[in-house]
Amino acid sequence: TLSGKTAIITGSNSGIGLGVARELAKAGADVVLNSFTDNEEDHALAEELGKEFGVKARYIQADMSKADQCRALIEKAGVCDILVNNAGIQHVAPIDEFPVEKWDAIIAINMNSAFHCTAAALPMMRKAGWGRVINVASAHGLTASPYKSAYVAAKHGVVGMTKVVALETAKEKITANAICPGYVLTPLVEAQIPDTAKKYDMTEEEAKEKVILERQPSKEFATTEQIGGTAVFLCSSAADQITGTTISVDGGWTAL
Ligand code: NAD
Repeated sequence: TLSGKTAIITGSNSGIGLGVARELAKAGADVVLNSFTDNEEDHALAEELGKEFGVKARYIQADMSKADQCRALIEKAGVCDILVNNAGIQHVAPIDEFPVEKWDAIIAINMNSAFHCTAAALPMMRKAGWGRVINVASAHGLTASPYKSAYVAAKHGVVGMTKVVALETAKEKITANAICPGYVLTPLVEAQIPDTAKKYDMTEEEAKEKVILERQPSKEFATTEQIGGTAVFLCSSAADQITGTTISVDGGWTAL
């Protein structure tokens, strides 16, 4: 059980981040949810999650595209035993047409935020004598696809940084690993299904299997619960000697 531990999950008011927060809370951890918005719903989400699992849950607004706000998130939480660097965005365009501001935003949110949050959290983990850094990378941290230059660069960067954090903490009871999901059925991906079906003149079922899941041999989406369960495993004592590596949850994508 993770009771007595506090987990901070960046970008966790939807999708994978929320799924990871739910599984960590189910395992007994107190959780800090985060996004760049500061709506009533954000705070209500944390309150409901806390009630559902009988843990302390808070929402802290911070924009992961800004270095100072990344560090402020960790400082405001005051304690961080488990850091899940999850916030991320995507933009798809050929490299010679890739908008510079999109490149900068993807590198900042998907990669730099993991650096800033880890830098701020490690002293807290050292003080506690235990810690877990879990980076939500991607199959695109290990392989590439055309038109995703910024995303693939950022995710490969995160995988590289994960190894360095593991080496710098190797002698301590701290581990750093990256989870590499293939396609996960989040609201973001779900929203693409009807448009894809229309574009290719297919049923939604066909669009899922033939277009969206083209590279995922299982032809099934991973779920946010499965990504959360992988994070819980990385927090368990069975994973004490697992550090500096990647765990793929991708239905066989990277075996191809
Ligand atoms: P999502 O859009 O549902 O979630 C992204 C989260 O990040 C949201 O909570 C959003 O509010 C937050 N966020 C965005 N910009 C932010 C900012 N500037 N500051 C703080 N928070 C911000 O998408 P998701 O699919 O759940 O993606 C989560 C992570 O998983 C990302 O890093 C993504 O690259 C990765 N991932 C997703 C998939 C997939 O198929 N869905 C596959 C592999 C990796």
